[in-house]
Amino acid sequence: MIKIYVESLSEDEEEDARYGKEERGDLIPKELRKKKVLQERIKQIINEMRDEGEKVNITDTDAKFIKERNGVIRPNYNSHIAVTEEQFIVGTELTNNASDAISALSLIKEMEENTESKPDMIVGDSGYDSLENYEGIKGKGIYPLIPDRKLVMERENKLEGERYRFHRGNFRFDREKNEYICPIGEKLICYKIKEIGKKDKKYRIYHYRTKVCKRCKYKWRCCGKGAYRYIKRDEREDIIEEVREFLSKEEGWEEYKKRMCATEPIFGILKRFLGHNYFLLRGLKKVEGEFNLMCLAWNIRKLHKLKVGWV
Ligand code: SF4
Repeated sequence: MIKIYVESLSEDEEEDARYGKEERGDLIPKELRKKKVLQERIKQIINEMRDEGEKVNITDTDAKFIKERNGVIRPNYNSHIAVTEEQFIVGTELTNNASDAISALSLIKEMEENTESKPDMIVGDSGYDSLENYEGIKGKGIYPLIPDRKLVMERENKLEGERYRFHRGNFRFDREKNEYICPIGEKLICYKIKEIGKKDKKYRIYHYRTKVCKRCKYKWRCCGKGAYRYIKRDEREDIIEEVREFLSKEEGWEEYKKRMCATEPIFGILKRFLGHNYFLLRGLKKVEGEFNLMCLAWNIRKLHKLKVGWV
């Protein structure tokens, strides 16, 4: 009983120090107690929800609802790291964007600045499979060993079965003839080329179709409400094809698998072993700082391991 009393007394003192003598900590924050200020804050949050077309977390408005690996969607940040084969973190990026694809180039830039060197190859998972990443990384003279999502689906047999028979991934591209072969063997030929992009950077988009669709018995499954099945191909997809070819070889996939041993354990140890399952701070800038400190601590542990053994 004495122990409990002492603890609650010290808790009271702590609360008084934190919130003031008359405050309890479970009341509306002082700055929001004026009706007008509270109304303004509520209006601001409603506007943010309208602008973003999604749920807004009012505790930390920077945190966005992002799906985690276990499928749970909750307020979150997306953290990325660039690591060496020896598992030293040489680049970090923390965003509130659900997509991985955005981060790769800025992460590589940071890595180059920190190490003052350029790797021959970057290995990343299929979340980084945007055309911008493939083109940007290749443009730097680095090989982008990134499997595209279609390849991963193929390897996991997710494109098999009747349900996926007419999935875009089941249309085979014949580079020599510049045509696609549909799942029943019909040739989709290029009937139009369009250019997209800005003045200094234009990309050709090839459009393919076959007139056979009109009388095909699978039309309703393959074309939906349209008269034809249309396939578009960005000329930058050539890089993806090249990477696919390498990854389809045993040596290519073995090289890619090394990634699993380099990055995945770091997140696993940070979260499960060291307990960094959530951030303590609020707001993108502060959380970014917290994440960088975690990574710095990781590197210090790694150095310590090299010098005196694991702790
Ligand atoms: S609808 Fe057209 S593209 Fe689809 S399977 Fe039939 S012929 Fe091939």
